[in-house]
Amino acid sequence: MSNLATIGVTGLAVMGSNLARNLARHGYRVAVHNRTYAKTEALMAEHGSEGDFVPSESTADFVASLERPRKIIIMVKAGAPTDAVIDELIPLLEEGDIVVDGGNAHFLDTRKREERLRQHGLHFVGTGISGGEVGALEGPSIMPGGSKESYAALGPILETISAHVDGEPCCAWMGPDGAGHFVKMVHNGIEYADMQFIAEAYDVLTAAGLSAAEVSDVFREWNTGELDSFLVELTAEVLAQVDARTGKPLVEVIVDQAEQKGTGRWTVQTALEMGVPLSVIAEAVFARSASGDVAIREACRGELSGPERRLDAERQQLVDDVRQALWASKVVAYAQGLEEIRRASEEYDWDVDIATVARIWRAGCIIRARLLKQISEEYAAHRLATLLIAPSIKQGLAERQDAWRRVIAGATAAGVPVPGFSSALAYYDTVRAERLPAALVQGLRDNFGAHTYRRVDVDGVFHTLWAQDK
Ligand code: NAP
Repeated sequence: MSNLATIGVTGLAVMGSNLARNLARHGYRVAVHNRTYAKTEALMAEHGSEGDFVPSESTADFVASLERPRKIIIMVKAGAPTDAVIDELIPLLEEGDIVVDGGNAHFLDTRKREERLRQHGLHFVGTGISGGEVGALEGPSIMPGGSKESYAALGPILETISAHVDGEPCCAWMGPDGAGHFVKMVHNGIEYADMQFIAEAYDVLTAAGLSAAEVSDVFREWNTGELDSFLVELTAEVLAQVDARTGKPLVEVIVDQAEQKGTGRWTVQTALEMGVPLSVIAEAVFARSASGDVAIREACRGELSGPERRLDAERQQLVDDVRQALWASKVVAYAQGLEEIRRASEEYDWDVDIATVARIWRAGCIIRARLLKQISEEYAAHRLATLLIAPSIKQGLAERQDAWRRVIAGATAAGVPVPGFSSALAYYDTVRAERLPAALVQGLRDNFGAHTYRRVDVDGVFHTLWAQDK
């Protein structure tokens, strides 16, 4: 039997080392490498006994320790470091070898890298991996792109180490070149929206007088029903945490400025460029930016008048309403995010199967949620112009919309900002409207810029001689 490793991982920070351990735990012989050898040594010292690792100090030895076609997963800091590793690998690899980038790369970079490696006869597989460090070790959701041919060799390994639901792996080929990283990008965008809705739910409930501990109990209860999801479970945990220093709920001593690493922004930038309405995710990204706008917040605090943030509502009714607002808003975020994937799939000729995307998000990843099973089944059963009209979703929205509107109206009257909930409902009302005031926008555009308009009753393009033309 060959002593060569089946697969290699280079980049052994938290994600790479956990992924290597996951592979080893599943019985694969795993070549491991890191730019700084001390990290490789640390992995071997701490976890070397967990499986069959083949450590190498140099990149050349690492490449030589792999069976062909070589399968190498790069897990380094995204951006220039990924290119540095690729530059080093290219001269050492041979035709047919497979290079996987498991970092959070921008899909356009992935497309360029894929093309470059293809010219060398190599497969480049931009792969989304979600689940954080625990997921990497215990089973993430894996979203590979790249060539179909490379998936035949690589897929069975990735499927083995991914999370599973009902015996099905949360890993599937998403489509060529950048499809995998695109899907992961949108996953992260939806994650921003999910977290914003959760934060708004917490804000509304506390404005009605619930303590952090009480809201934690509400979220724990919600996690047993339609909102069952990883982030709702985590919310219950975060809100229950008491600060050892002050004895207060930890959430109350955390600075209220949300940071971001950029994948949410990419999701929105891409949507803007493609002309896809991604208003809910954009609102979530902007909500983080607004929270961090310290100068403006300080200038306005105490200066701008408004209600006192007291929401008078019957407690159980409000809790039920907020649960429904959360579900409905979440559906809209998924509808917009999945539509962005569908449109990109068309534009780049990826043929991404949306039912499969929702299926592999059911476990392992950060946005995993009970709702994703329903979404996946709906896309598998119907050709949907949008998730919103899927039979069970449409009905769910119809049943919850009164509660959704009550929450937004109540929060708005009390001066509690709910940009995520409001944006989601505004999109819902926009797409269901018989007519939109876009007609007036067109009239204005024609008036000041002779941009023309179309009519409802006659085909063709029209321009009116407005007063200033005469
Ligand atoms: P990280 O902090 O993003 O990156 C550290 C790793 O990159 C180290 O192994 C480091 O090697 C290597 N590196 C940096 N510059 C390099 C260069 N020029 N050449 C070679 N290697 C270089 O690590 P991470 O948090 O484990 O994340 C790895 C990737 O997974 C990232 O792309 C990240 O976006 C993505 N990701 C992370 C998570 C998460 O929850 N953390 C989740 C999903 C995806 P040295 O030890 O030599 O410095």
